[in-house]
Order: sequence, then C-alpha cells, then structure tokens
Amino acid sequence: MGTKKILVVEDNEDTREILLYRLKSMGDYEIQIATNGKEALEIATKSKPDLVIMDLKMPVMDGWEATRALRQTNWAKDLPIIALTAQAMENDEEKALDAGCNDYIAKPIMDYTILRRKIEKLLR
Ligand SMILES: [Mg+2]
Repeated sequence: MGTKKILVVEDNEDTREILLYRLKSMGDYEIQIATNGKEALEIATKSKPDLVIMDLKMPVMDGWEATRALRQTNWAKDLPIIALTAQAMENDEEKALDAGCNDYIAKPIMDYTILRRKIEKLLR
C-alpha cells in the first residue's frame, strides 16, 4: 500500500493551512500543495498524486480548467478529484462534476468526517 499522496490545490492560504492540518490528522498521507490550477498540473505531472482536492475559483488557472486538463492525460483520467465548492454557488457542484470531478465538498468545511469518508472511499 504505502503512503498515499494527496495534492491540495487552493489559492486561499487560511483554507490551505486548515486543510493541511486536518488531512495530516486523518491518516498517513503525504500532502502536496499547489496554489492554482497551473501549479497543480505541474506538480501532479511530476509527483503523480493518488488524490486531488481541488478548489474551483483560483487565479491563473481555475479548478475546472485544471480538472479538464488532467482528464485529458492518460495517467490522470481516473485520478480521484474532490472539488471544493462555494456554498452560495449552487451550480458549482454541477459544473465540478461536468468538468470531471468525482465528488465535491462545500466550503467552509464544517464536518471533516465527511471529507475523510469521501477521501477514504475514493482511495479504496
Ligand atoms: Mg479560491
């Protein structure tokens, strides 16, 4: 099995820090960080993560575009991607699934147990 790699893609520093802290307490995960979609593609291509947590609204390249780009590659066409959606934006969820995300969770994340379950399900 070995340690699973999770790539967190999020432009907001506070959200990133909280996610990092929470993910580390969830299990033996190696966490990588990207602050926009373009960076995510570069890091993911090199490090081949086992799962991606993808914010949608980001500068440079947003999460929808980055997800679509990943889905066009051979190695990432089935890579588990969980989108971080904005609670107020109802069609974010639909657009995330349309772009190829496997699942989504609304920000701010109130219950990290739900995120943990989603991660564990997708990494199985
Ligand atoms: Mg954002």
